[in-house]
Parts: sequence; C-alpha cells; structure tokens
Amino acid sequence: MTGQASVTAYLFLGLIFLIMPSLTWVILARQRSRVVVLWCAGSLLYAGGMLLVGLRGSIPDWVSFAVANLVTLAGLLSSIQALRLDQGAPWRLRWMVVAGLVYLLNFEFIERGLGNAPLRKEFIVLVHLTLLLQVVRWAWRIARRQQSMGALAIAGSHLLLAAAMLVRLVHLIQVGGGGEGPTRHLVEMGLLVSAGVLAAIVGDVGFIGIALERSARQQLEAVACKVRMEESLRLGNQLAHLDRQRSLGLMAATLAHELNQPLMAILASAQAARRGTAANRLEPAQSLELLDKVIANSRRISGITERIRSFIRPGEPHSAPVDLVRITREMLELLQPDLQRHGVRVTFPAASEPVLVQGDAIQLSQVVLNVLRNALEAVQLVPDRSLQIQITRSGSVALLSILDTGPGLDPGLADQVGRPYFTTKDRGLGMGLSISIAILEQHQGNLTLRNAEGGGACAVMQLPLLAPGSRQPRVPAENALAPLVVLAESTGGGQ
Ligand code: ADP
Repeated sequence: MTGQASVTAYLFLGLIFLIMPSLTWVILARQRSRVVVLWCAGSLLYAGGMLLVGLRGSIPDWVSFAVANLVTLAGLLSSIQALRLDQGAPWRLRWMVVAGLVYLLNFEFIERGLGNAPLRKEFIVLVHLTLLLQVVRWAWRIARRQQSMGALAIAGSHLLLAAAMLVRLVHLIQVGGGGEGPTRHLVEMGLLVSAGVLAAIVGDVGFIGIALERSARQQLEAVACKVRMEESLRLGNQLAHLDRQRSLGLMAATLAHELNQPLMAILASAQAARRGTAANRLEPAQSLELLDKVIANSRRISGITERIRSFIRPGEPHSAPVDLVRITREMLELLQPDLQRHGVRVTFPAASEPVLVQGDAIQLSQVVLNVLRNALEAVQLVPDRSLQIQITRSGSVALLSILDTGPGLDPGLADQVGRPYFTTKDRGLGMGLSISIAILEQHQGNLTLRNAEGGGACAVMQLPLLAPGSRQPRVPAENALAPLVVLAESTGGGQ
C-alpha cells in the first residue's frame, strides 16, 4: 500500500516537474540564455529522475535506483548552476562531474558494499537536502541583490521542500533499521509531494518572474540611459557653444584688427575717390579701380563676419563630410593676426587632396581652434616660436598633428591635462581640451597630447576617415587646396 502510494507520488511529481520547465522554456526561449537552458534542463532532469523512481518495478532496479538518483542529482546541480551562473560564479564542469561520481560511488558502496538500505535512504535525503539548501542560498542572494520577488519565491518554495526533507531525514534516522509506520510514511510522502509540487510550480513561476523583472528593469534602464545621454548631449552642445563664444571673445582684439584692415582700405579708397572727383582729376578707369577695391574689401568684411556668425551659431550639430585640411586652414586664417603679432612661424605642408571625415564642421573647427590656440599660447612662453601642422591618413584613420616649440607639459601634471577645469594659465578655464575630447568622442575619434621628443608638445587628433565612395563635401573653388605655409613675421620674441 505505502509502496504503491510512493510510486504514484513520484510519478505525479515527475509529471509536474516535466510540465513546468517546458512551460518556462516556451516563455523564455527567446532570451537564448545559458541560465534559462540550465534551469529548465535541471527541472527536466529532476523530472526524469522522479519518473524513473516512479517506474520502480517496471524497469530494472539499477535504473530506478542508481541511475534515477544520479539523474535527480544532476538536475539539482544544473538548477544550482543556473543560479550561480546568473550571479557570475558558476561551478567548473569538472567539479560537477567529480561530485556526481563521488555520489554514485558512495551510493553503490552503501547499497552493495554495506547492503544497508536505511542508510542509503538517509544518504539520498541528506544529499538532496544539502543541494536544496544551495538552491535556497543562491536564490536568496539574487532576491537580496536585485530585490527580486521571483527569486524570493524560489528561495521560499525550496526552503519548504528542504524542511520536508529534513523532517523525513530525522524520521529515517529515528527509525534506523526498524520499519516505518505506514501512516507516518504516508504523511511524510504527502508532505514531500506537496512541498515538491509547490517547489516545481512556484520555483518555475519565480524563475520566469526573475527574467521578466530583469527585462523590465533593463528596458527602464535603457530608457533612463537614453534620457541621460540626450541630456548630456544637449548640455555638451550648450557648453561647446559657450566655448566657441569664449574663443571668439578671446580673439576680440584680433578680430577687430582683422575687420579694421579692410575698413581702413575702404575708407582710403573712398577718400581717394572723393578727392579725385572733387578736383575733377579722376579718370573713369581710376574710379573703377577704387570702386573695385571698395567692393573687394567689403566682401572681405562680409566673409569675416559670416565666418564668425557661423562659428558661434547655436543649434543642433549637423553631420556631413568635413575636409580636415580646409577647416584647419580656416582656423589658421582666424588666428593669423595673433600668430603674426607673436611672431609664430607655422608650417603646414600642402595636402594633395582633401582629407575627409564625417561630422559637424563647426564642432570639429572648434577642436582644431582649441588645440591651435593652446599651441599658440604655449609658444608665447619661449623665444623660438613655431608650429608644425600635419594632416595624414593612416589606414582608416585621419590624423591631424600639431607640434609646438613651447615648454611642453609638466610631467607631474600630464595626467591631469584634459580633465575639466584643469589649467595652468592665469586666465585659463581648463575647459577647452575637455570639450574638444568630448566632441571627438562623439565623432568616434580621440585627442592625445604628449611631450615631443625634441621638446615642446604634440597634440594628435584622430578621426575615422570617411569611407571611399561617400558623398564628397562641396569644396568651393577659392579653397582648392594649395600648399599652405604660413610664415609669420618674427618679432624677436616680444608679445
Ligand atoms: P585652458 O587653455 O583654459 O587652460 P585647456 O583645457 O585648453 O584649458 O588646457 C588645459 C591645460 O593643458 C592648459 O592650461 C595647459 O597647462 C595644458 N596644455 C594644453 N595644450 C598645451 C600645449 N600645447 N603645451 C603645453 N601645455 C598645454
């Protein structure tokens, strides 16, 4: 009677353990995770073990005893491994195999060597109990770390099953070799089956819960991360815009000078025309020449103001092919009066063709201007003032290097250069390089600044080259690339 009850109980448990992981697999298969595979395989193996025990009498004894127990053990190990893997602490496979063999050897020794059936039962229950407590331990860890209700359900249901196992173990030890009372056996089996069914159902639902909670959390985090990125991009753009305004502010004197020159030229032409016309001495060809000068200088002024306007234009970055040679040349032109004033010699070898990268022309110009201005400020500290600029291609990367003859970076502070607010200048803000680095990162590029072997500092800007065949930027005819060597007058080192 009690034997028949046990068989039915094991078959029932086996079926429940078969159905639940199959459902879990159907629900979570899309996750293609090893954790899910191990968990479902664990429950299926456990089901297999239960069914083999349940078929006792219809199949050879060694299958329904040794094999069934080994399969059940493997199932429990697989479930524990799933939880451990989830927490990044999986067991090594070889240790699991060794544990299985040790279990089998002990089982066989007790069964055949000692011929002690009660001890064998106690051994099986003890091993089960230990492994169930492992499931509880790892599920509890997940529940604590991730505030997961699903993991808490696994821990709780398996703790209940472990408690039922403990009751059974204590009873088995108490009766020893003596026979178990049928009623007591029935009650214990009922307890074990109820706890087992609960562990199978609640455990698997809990496992699905962990996966769903996690995917909901990941989605939330992804949305939060996107919002943070958009916010930091917005702030970054604002910062970059302010930095550009500041750059132009710093160059106010230079720009005034640059605007003053054509204005003076216009004034001179206009005065000459007025004087000539008043004295009736002006040939038509001469007045045309003077008017042409006025027009050319007005165009020059308009070009300068347009450059300033577009450089500080606020608004969204606009990605398009950008010619590094062209923007470097434009920034050098912007700095030209300062370079001349400080007697800085600039060498910029001719490029045979545009060096194209993808990005926002204004932002990339800003980076070039920041690096050039730093180099210009560095060389002002020494009598021999020169900058050497090179734009090259290396594989799929465009390199813009600016080598100066300044004092270089203080080795003790070199690792701080580029951090926000780090500056060694009296009127510095320490934002130029960090903004430049951020801009280059947004363009999948980078910026390095190091001391050059022969003295001075060398800044190297790297950007992915635009793939051949991409849309070419429009290069106006007046910017067709000619060798550019800016040779500023030397003022003998004065400021
Ligand atoms: P700021 O120019 O306002 O100081 P940056 O972020 O542009 O801010 O530069 C930070 C610091 O990096 C500078 O104060 C300077 O100490 C150092 N630095 C940058 N470029 C050079 C260079 N070419 N030579 C020497 N030091 C440099």
